[in-house]
Formats: sequence, C-alpha cells, structure tokens
Amino acid sequence: MASDESITTPRSGGAERIWIIRYAAELSIKSKRTQDGFRRRLIRNIRDALRSSGGEFSIDGRWGRILVRTSSDQAPAALSRVFGLSSISEVDAVVPAELDAIVRAGEALYADRVRGRTYAVRAKRSGRHPFRSRDVMVQLGAALNREATVDLDDPEVTVNVDIRDDEAWLFTDHQQGVGGLPLGVEGHAVALLSGGYDSPVAAWLMLKRGVTLDYVFCNLGGDAYERAVVQVAKILADGWSYGYRPRLHVVDFQGPLDALRERVTPRYWQVVLKRLMYRTASAIGAELEAQAIVTGEAIGQVSSQTLTNLRAIEPAASLPVFRPLLGFDKTEIIARAERIGTAALSARVKEYCAIAPGKPVTAAKEEAVAAEESKLDLSVLDAAIASRRVLDLRALKPVDLVAPYIFTTEIPAGAAVIDCRPEEQYRLWHWPGAERRDDWELARDLRRLDRDRTYVLYCAQGVQTAYLAELMQREGYEAYSFKGGVRGLRRYAEEKAGARAGNA
Ligand code: ATP
Ligand code: MG
Repeated sequence: MASDESITTPRSGGAERIWIIRYAAELSIKSKRTQDGFRRRLIRNIRDALRSSGGEFSIDGRWGRILVRTSSDQAPAALSRVFGLSSISEVDAVVPAELDAIVRAGEALYADRVRGRTYAVRAKRSGRHPFRSRDVMVQLGAALNREATVDLDDPEVTVNVDIRDDEAWLFTDHQQGVGGLPLGVEGHAVALLSGGYDSPVAAWLMLKRGVTLDYVFCNLGGDAYERAVVQVAKILADGWSYGYRPRLHVVDFQGPLDALRERVTPRYWQVVLKRLMYRTASAIGAELEAQAIVTGEAIGQVSSQTLTNLRAIEPAASLPVFRPLLGFDKTEIIARAERIGTAALSARVKEYCAIAPGKPVTAAKEEAVAAEESKLDLSVLDAAIASRRVLDLRALKPVDLVAPYIFTTEIPAGAAVIDCRPEEQYRLWHWPGAERRDDWELARDLRRLDRDRTYVLYCAQGVQTAYLAELMQREGYEAYSFKGGVRGLRRYAEEKAGARAGNA
C-alpha cells in the first residue's frame, strides 16, 4: 500500500485536499496576451469562490493548470460554478518526480480501482527529467495491466500523472467544470429580471460568456413579488458570480403603471410597459457604463414577444438588447433553470402582475406603439428610476430577505385572517371574520393550506406569528404577521371604521 514515505497522500495528512483544475479549452485558442488576462481574472474568481466556501486555501497558477489546496468540503461545489474551467480533479498523491516513485504510487493507488475495467494512463511533463512522459505511461500502464485492460480511446478509468519539475501529481476523478469564459473578461451589462423562469436563465447564459451583470427589477406587484425576485437574484449572485458583486436595482413601477392605465389604450399596455422597462434599463445601464441590456424574451413565447412586437419595443432602448433565449423552447429553459438552481423559486413567482385585460396587441406597428407611449409624461418614469433602491445581493443575509416582508400594517381584501391567541382573548375581541387557530396547530398543518390566499396572522405582540409567517413564506405562501400584534390591529380597525364613518 501507499506506506512509502515519499508519497504524501493529502487526505491522510490533515483535512487539506489538493485539486487540479483545467482551463476551458476555449482559452487555449486565444492569443498569449488575451490568455494571460483571462487567467489572471480566472484566478481572481477562483479566489472569491474559495473564500466564500470557507476554510484556508492556496492557489498555484504557475503551470498550465491551477492547483488549489484547501480543507473546505464546499470547495469542489464552488469551483464547479466558476466559469472558464473544464474540469476539477482531486489529486490523490504528490510524489517526487522519479519514474520509480510514480509507478509505485500509481500502482498502490489505482490497482484496485482499475481491476476488471478498461483504463488508460496519461502523463504530462515539464522540466528536466531523466525519463519521458511516454515512459510513465508505458511503465505505470504495465504495472496496472494485471487484471485490467488498456483502452486508450474510451477508457472507464483515466489515470493522470502531471509532472512539474521535482513533483508529480496523480489523479483520476474528474468533475466537469461549467465551461464558458471567466466572469468579467467580456464587459458589463444590465439584465432585466422578472423572476420567472426565463430572465434568470438568460442572465446566466451571459454570465457564462464572461459578462458581469447588475440586475434591474421593475416592481409591479408589491412586497411578496419583490421578495421572490430578490431571492432569485441572490442565487445568481451567490452561486454564479464569483469575482463580482452584483447589485439589484429595484424600481417601483406603481407610478408608471398608474399613468399607463390612465392614458394608454389597454391593447397596448403590454408593449408600452415593456418599452418603459427598456427605458429604465437603458438609464440605469448608462449610469453603470453597461454595454448592453439582457432580457429573457424568446420568440413567440407569449403574445408580447412576437417578432413584430419585439421590433416595436426595441427603439425604446438606447443600448443593444441581447436576448440569449430567442431560440429556446420553454421546456429547455426550465431544464436549465433547474440546473442553475432558480427553477423552484421561479415556479413560485406567480403572475404577480396581471395588468392586461383581454387580448394584447400581437402585431404592434412601431409608430402606433410610439404614439401610445407619447401619451405618457415620462417624468413619472424618471422619478421612479431616481428613487430606486439598490441592493448589494452578496451582502444580503437570508434573514434580511425575510424580515422586511414579514410584517404588514394592513389587511388586504380577501385575505384569510388568523388569530393565534388563546380562546378567551379571541372571545373578547377579534378581527371580524378572523378564524382562531393555535400556532402549533397551524405549523403542523402548514402544507395543507389554500395556496391561492393571502394570510395575515396576529397574536398578542405579533412576534410568535412573525415566526409562523416566516415558516409559511418559506413554504411559498403569501403570509404576514400584523405589525404590533392585536393592539396594532385594533388601531387599524378603528382607523378603518373612522374612515368609513368619514366617507358616509
Ligand atoms: P420571465 O419568465 O423572465 O418572467 P416572461 O416569459 O414572463 O419572462 P415577459 O413578461 O414578456 O415574459 O417578459 C420578457 C422579459 O422582459 C423578461 O424575461 C425580463 O427580461 C423582462 N421583464 C419582464 N417583466 C419584468 C419586470 N417586472 N422587471 C424587470 N424585467 C422584466
Ligand atoms: Mg414574467
């Protein structure tokens, strides 16, 4: 076995493990200068990935491959989300660069692994040695050949030996890298993010090609919608943007939407609204010196995405509009969203925005759309853009995502109101129509509630129900705790009663 002192087996020493990383093949066809720039950026991105996966680490990028030493178990998962890598393999042993030592270590490590299977030995060498790569392949190949068959074309196991100066690294397991180009080498763009399946996938495809992104979200549907979109954006920011700190620009579209409903012919609402979003992304993009706008539009997917409509919308943008999903089917998009990790959240992003009654125009003439849009005073839009909120997505903590959305200060029409106080207090006073449930019972039955309703919970202080509302939100319900508990609610009830009396 590998008891020879000359073999350092990283796993046995401490918790530290060594990973060897190959660059994506595309990098090697670039010019030397471009390659150097790409490599520097890639190492910076890898550093960010390792930092966010915790633990100590070191990176050695002196060779044609990158060597990472780390004790973090999360490292391989993080590395598999760095664009520009083709494979990530764990190094099984580091031995002196001597033919004998390599063959002995290789045999000890891999004889069991190749038994009864087909295999190949591949070796790469740089530096001065009294042997050639071929000698390693032949000798280690022969040593392993007892109960296994060599197959150089399509082996079940590939044993790799990388020899650099005085060290040789042995490894087999390959985890595929995600490919693409290092994030940051292809400039910057803004992505219009709506949180549905499409726009996060479109954004991801741009990230994969090395474009850093900030996100623009036009909120048409309130807090619950925003929370869902922030969560989707956070998946892209935390998991797929190593080497960059993306921001989410949240623009409150209530003002522009009201103006649109008041002035624009309903058939044109959809397309004019989309023009307003393009204008928003253009304005924010200009500030950020972005080169382009990215959207999740796919030809013909919905009525506003006919070719004619896309053409009618386009002139509102002052930056090029990129639509990486143009040729994708919905099923392909959802499959990708699953791999990226946004699918489950996107599925929950209900159609928060239901602005269009009846049939929207499907073949809008550019001039007609522009004429409709010109009925609007665009200063409403400027105001909305100017007062946008900018979120540093990486800095947001899961609790930040939930907390601001847990409390409500009103009871929306049609909401199910649940009183979680003891029976006797409920009998003294409760919100008209409120149902009484014990909080433990509600927690137990959480999954069986009607998903189409909005829930407002209250208790004495609003604290226990805040916890319940958070649980419910995690399950995908729209649920809130009334701020200030029963006292806050009574004040609210009195105000409403007062307002009704005043109106009468
Ligand atoms: P998605 O699945 O991304 O929600 P969709 O199929 O629902 O898209 P549309 O609603 O027509 O299609 O939107 C097309 C694109 O316009 C989206 O992919 C997104 O890039 C952008 N967009 C739509 N709504 C918003 C919004 N509220 N805020 C920001 N961008 C939006
Ligand atoms: Mg949508």
